[in-house]
Amino acid sequence: MSERIFLDHVSTTPLDERVLKAMMPYFTETYGNPSSHVHQHGVLASKGMDEAREQILDFVNANEQSLVFTSGATEANNLAILGMAYAANKAKKHILISEVEHFSVYNTMYTLKNHGFDVEIIPTNASGIVTTELLSKKLRDDTLLVSVMHANGEIGSIQPIADLSKLAHEKGALFHTDATVSAGLLPIDFNAWGVDAMTLSAHNFYGPKGVGALVLKTGTPIRSITFGGWQEDGLRSGTENVTGIIGMGIAATIAKAEMNERVEKLNLLGKDLWKKIGEKVPFIHFTGDETSRLPGHVSFWIEHVEGESVILFLNMKGISVASGSACSSNLKGEDEEDLVASHVLAAVGVPTDICAGSVTISLGRDNKQEDVDKTVEELVATVERLLQMSPSYADYKKEKGV
Ligand code: PMP
Repeated sequence: MSERIFLDHVSTTPLDERVLKAMMPYFTETYGNPSSHVHQHGVLASKGMDEAREQILDFVNANEQSLVFTSGATEANNLAILGMAYAANKAKKHILISEVEHFSVYNTMYTLKNHGFDVEIIPTNASGIVTTELLSKKLRDDTLLVSVMHANGEIGSIQPIADLSKLAHEKGALFHTDATVSAGLLPIDFNAWGVDAMTLSAHNFYGPKGVGALVLKTGTPIRSITFGGWQEDGLRSGTENVTGIIGMGIAATIAKAEMNERVEKLNLLGKDLWKKIGEKVPFIHFTGDETSRLPGHVSFWIEHVEGESVILFLNMKGISVASGSACSSNLKGEDEEDLVASHVLAAVGVPTDICAGSVTISLGRDNKQEDVDKTVEELVATVERLLQMSPSYADYKKEKGV
């Protein structure tokens, strides 16, 4: 495995050795239940958790705010949207969700609709960005909540969160942002952005899987969506994943300390990859915004060539890249087994027959220039080979007489 090249860092990142080291004692020595305040074992676990809470709040510049630990970004997103919706007690019923959200936000819309909420999708521009103009067209006096992610893992576009949040607040709406993909790749500023709630996931910034958090502006109205032993101020019952939480705290501290270095390196490598692919790969269409995008992120689709095939061929060459498209059946929860293109790709105008997918390459802090060069070389060879096998390319050549 070691010589393989991993270029799918938006899906996950490896655990940092320093994080693992910090977690270890909490498995075998400081293993108390943090709710067991009556004895030393519990108190030590609880103290470790409090420290991690502070480290994470500091990482996203949310000092003085509160934080609920969850099992990951999916649960944090569900808690944010459903919890804030239910807390409104039907006083307001209009909820806005952007067109490029992850399914853990997007699919809450079906539950919300079943509970009588009026959910609308905010469209994006062709780069996958929700502009203030697009949001203001959808905001209403009865808008309760707006949810727009900070950055999209599929197409890399970064949203103008501070501006969108300000606009939502001017209309009296709450604002949630999913910063799962960007936390660790870009500085995150909860206080300056003025958001009410923010989702984070540890395994996107070299922390462990299975732990995340919902950062909340103190006093934000929210209700629990799970019920049990009242942990996390009653907002997330269940014994906390202490080891994971300790790991998330350390990973956050390291990410903050190494942020500038990471961003600089990823920007350089990512821009080089973009440029070389753009020059050498025929029929390529990049997706997302060229400038307002995640460092080290390159996403595209190629005419006449299926993204899935590109991914399989690169995998055989030892390079792991991602399919940008969730080309699966029945994504909308409907009965028919139609293949539907990713809602994100559809949002940015990728033709729906490109349902077999776009390609997403996301670099990480351990990638090197050699990885970029090898990827370009293998991608060019793969596309050449796939074009020779493509019926659509054969038709194109016939049509053009080439
Ligand atoms: N939000 C975004 C933006 C994501 O990309 C993902 C997937 N990595 C999630 C939420 C869900 O994360 P998890 O599967 O770790 O719960």
